Amino acid sequence: MTNLARSVNPALSTLRDRLHEVRARMSRAAERSGRDPAAVALVGVVKTVPSAVVREAVALGLMDLGENRVQEAQVKVGEVGRRAARWHMVGHLQRNKAGRALELFDRIHSLDRMELAESLSRMAVAAARRLPVMLEVNVSGEASKHGLAPDDLLRLLEPAAALPGLEVDGLMTVGAPVDEPERARSGFDLLRRLRDRAQDALGLRLPHLSMGMSGDFEVAIEEGSTMVRVGTALFGPRA
Ligand SMILES: *Cc1c(COP(=O)(O)O)cnc(C)c1O
Repeated sequence: MTNLARSVNPALSTLRDRLHEVRARMSRAAERSGRDPAAVALVGVVKTVPSAVVREAVALGLMDLGENRVQEAQVKVGEVGRRAARWHMVGHLQRNKAGRALELFDRIHSLDRMELAESLSRMAVAAARRLPVMLEVNVSGEASKHGLAPDDLLRLLEPAAALPGLEVDGLMTVGAPVDEPERARSGFDLLRRLRDRAQDALGLRLPHLSMGMSGDFEVAIEEGSTMVRVGTALFGPRA
């Protein structure tokens, strides 16, 4: 990019640079651990990001977008376009918003209870859809975090995987905030081992692990992440 182009639209060049940088770091992390870089998707978390910026990101090739609130997503999906990208629900979901979530999102990362699973499945069946979902596990044990305790995973996974409207295909976690990325590794390792054990115990296929955010996505990829959820490193600090 020329200096002139930068001076004309600095915000766009910055986003382009950041997208390029995050993708390059993702690829290096995958290669370091002997994994195919194409096996890890970048979900750009766009909560609080203005729709104009989200549209720029899509124009720059960001194919997957994450939101953590149904209400905010409704506005943004309307402005950016339901089919402009794949939309991911990464935040806590209330059952009374299940219907709207089904309309707005291509995938739910944060399923954590059976009543929500049943609502989503019923509505998906009525819409002739099968909704890809992941179960959220709280690997850090912090009380402030949503998600299942590791010991409760199989109790939800088995009945949820049997629901006709859902395709349960992985696990997700939000790591504890860490001052250095290396300290997030044990939580990601735990999620992967829980996944391996659940596959063996129930005979399911759970290919996806949604783990890694701006501060720790490289460690997450080294530990097997197939979807990193990155906000700040792409869009800057949130207000
Ligand atoms: C906000 C959010 C992210 C992105 O966090 P950053 O640190 O800004 O990359 C990822 N996952 C979830 C569930 C979030 O709410």
